Amino acid sequence: MKKTKAALCVALMLLTALLFSQSSAKVCVSAKGRKYHTANCRTIKSSAITTLTKEEAIRAGYEACKVCRP
Ligand SMILES: [Zn+2]
Repeated sequence: MKKTKAALCVALMLLTALLFSQSSAKVCVSAKGRKYHTANCRTIKSSAITTLTKEEAIRAGYEACKVCRP
C-alpha cells in the first residue's frame, strides 16, 4: 500500500513537470507580426524577434503561425 502511494506521488510529480514544461514553451514573435512562431520558422525574420512563452504570447493576443504550428 505504501509503495502504491509513493508511485502515485512520483507519477503526479512527473505529470505536473510535463504540463509545466509545455505551458512554458518558448515561442518567438516579430515586432510587427500578430502571430507567434517557433524559433526556426521560415516566415519570421531574424531581426526584431522577441522570445516569450507560448502562454504569454496567447495572453498578449498573438495567434499561432499556420506554417510552423508552434
Ligand atoms: Zn511560423
